[in-house]
Amino acid sequence: MAVRNFLSTFAAKSCSMYTRKLVNEQISYYMETTLVLLKPSCVQRQLIGEIVHRFERRGLRIAGMKMMQLDEAILRDHYAHLVDRPFFPALAASMMASPIVAMAISGVEAVQVVRAMTGFTNGRAADPGTIRGDYAMSNQQNIVHASDSVENAAIELARFFRPEEIFDYRSGVQDYLYAPNEC
Ligand code: UDP
Ligand code: MG
Repeated sequence: MAVRNFLSTFAAKSCSMYTRKLVNEQISYYMETTLVLLKPSCVQRQLIGEIVHRFERRGLRIAGMKMMQLDEAILRDHYAHLVDRPFFPALAASMMASPIVAMAISGVEAVQVVRAMTGFTNGRAADPGTIRGDYAMSNQQNIVHASDSVENAAIELARFFRPEEIFDYRSGVQDYLYAPNEC
């Protein structure tokens, strides 16, 4: 736990404070905000409501949400680690096939919680109970994007949202979502 707390403190210092915030100086847990994209495979299959509902039901808070039409420039940034891969043109086309819904989602350790809810990239390999494991049969048409680290969440949120589009309100049920000594 001591090592984890040290690493958490170290990571927090390298992140923007609106993305990762210490909830209580006495208690070492972090309210984080992560980026989720509901991809054209989600929008076209009319699964927006179901996927949003899953995040809400878990106790995550929607901090920002908007529909956007992506273009190649933003996708080249967003998928910079994949631009040289042979499947990138098909991936970019799949992400521009219809509008997407961009979401900023907040909660304690939200980055890893949302990533775990998303499941493995390939829907056929994803565990049942995860979003991809329940709704996807494809490696590409896999319903959602979710940030994979606190550092990337900060970068990705800034790519898709202006600061004023992300709302830092307190959940009315926060005291029933988290214990006062949550760790
Ligand atoms: N992708 C693809 N073919 C591949 C690997 C990835 O089309 O062989 C797509 C897929 O839509 C995936 C996205 O590229 O969600 C980003 O890939 P990454 O490895 O970052 O997976 P993720 O973080 O989305 O699980
Ligand atoms: Mg990824």
